[in-house]
Amino acid sequence: LEPAYSFMIRCRIPAGVVKPEQWLQLDKVASDYANDTLKITTRQTIQYHCVVKNQLKAAMQGINKAMLDTIAACGDVNRNVMCSPNPHISQLHAETYDFAARISEYLLPRMDAYHEIWLDQPTESKKQLLTGGALRDYEPLYGPYYLPRKFKIAIAVPPRNDVDCFAHDIGLIAIADSNGHLAGFNVSVGGGMGVTHGMKTTYPRLGDIIGFVTPDQTLECCKHIMLTQRDFGNRANRKQARLKYTIDNHFKGPQNFKAEVERRLGYELEPARPYAFSANTDEYGWRKQMNGKWTCMLWLENGRIKDEPGAPFRTGIRELCKADWFQGELRLSPNQHMALSNIPEGIKAMVEAHLDKYNMALWKQSSLALSASSCVAFPTCGLAMAESERVLFPDLIEHLDKIVKRLGIADEEIITRMTGCPNGCARPWVANIAFVGKAPGTYVMLLGGNKRGTRVNKVYAESVTLPEAITILEPLLERFAKERGPGEDFGDFVIRMGIIAETRKGSEFWD
Ligand code: SF4
Repeated sequence: LEPAYSFMIRCRIPAGVVKPEQWLQLDKVASDYANDTLKITTRQTIQYHCVVKNQLKAAMQGINKAMLDTIAACGDVNRNVMCSPNPHISQLHAETYDFAARISEYLLPRMDAYHEIWLDQPTESKKQLLTGGALRDYEPLYGPYYLPRKFKIAIAVPPRNDVDCFAHDIGLIAIADSNGHLAGFNVSVGGGMGVTHGMKTTYPRLGDIIGFVTPDQTLECCKHIMLTQRDFGNRANRKQARLKYTIDNHFKGPQNFKAEVERRLGYELEPARPYAFSANTDEYGWRKQMNGKWTCMLWLENGRIKDEPGAPFRTGIRELCKADWFQGELRLSPNQHMALSNIPEGIKAMVEAHLDKYNMALWKQSSLALSASSCVAFPTCGLAMAESERVLFPDLIEHLDKIVKRLGIADEEIITRMTGCPNGCARPWVANIAFVGKAPGTYVMLLGGNKRGTRVNKVYAESVTLPEAITILEPLLERFAKERGPGEDFGDFVIRMGIIAETRKGSEFWD
């Protein structure tokens, strides 16, 4: 008898936009085949956990009924393309979202094995085999060996860097023209979060901006960056295989990498254009969009959509999507929250009443709690070394919450992130305060990232338990409360006070 192996399934949802009827189907898959929860991930998509092996195909077909798929959501390919969920910046956002979907399609593997294996769809290659012909299925973009490692793209719409655009292999920063339309993108390359504990040849790295592309040039530019990595990435050592190491080790810096990309494109990239980021978090509650409709960002604990006593969030979203009066769409955020967007003025009051009925308006908390996030870790991630999702709330944040309230700094956005291992799925390496799992109950503690997602933090304590971490943090927060400058970020503060050294580039991470 075979053991009841269980699996995680991750969807591909470019920019995290889901229509109500799609949500109802995704919700049904969680009941029918998974553990009755849906997890919003930091790549703006949905993960299911505990899908038993003999139900995998049915679950995949259930996702397909929502007109979604799981192609390239994992593996050494271009992953789910992210985009800032900022619909109130209307025109620019609408044009930018379109690019997330187009890039995702453009860089999608073309082989039809997925449809053949999971959807039982007859494919050209199978038809040829059945009729005695030669197998012809091939992958035109990735080639026979695909990429050396996973590849990630995110699009930010300033002033918010809620996608942490510098943490991805390619970060595109949307630039508006004088009429508010999309003029193009600044292009950042070589961001990446994964590290191996104690291995100093690995490090978190933020992307370098190498130029500007117009909308017409964007797809080709992304393709040639990815193919340069395909051709030059390290295939002998997976721990050195991400684009960040290709740029630093093979090309000896972003300028040589840029030259190779330009050679492939056949033209030089324009100089990057001015932009400014103010925050990498979500804006909660109601905001009016430029088209007169409304958006409401809902806070979710670690992106977990489930029903709990007194907080039936999953039922609330399901009933909202079922309601014949509801118009709008759902947008999953890169910080693992959910926005209801494009809500017409005429139904706003009904949506508000619905949120109250199901106790879903949970954004009246300290800024520290609102901006905290974690990865999944135990019990469903096989790579976890320590707890994450199950201890960030309440073990850590409830204690820190009491401290910031006592100190009168509950409105200060202090970005706290936790992961169960150094793969860094919750992008801990850019947080103000980060905990990265080392062993059960034990974490590396880091300080010094900023709330714009533009600086990597640094190890402050090699090995701490959470009670020890609270003891370390309390006096630092007391100093921050008394000695911070006007508008000063906690990460900037700890560097200014000499509490931690600044990490100016990824390769200085261990210094
Ligand atoms: Fe799993 Fe590590 Fe990612 Fe957390 S950071 S979900 S433990 S791989």
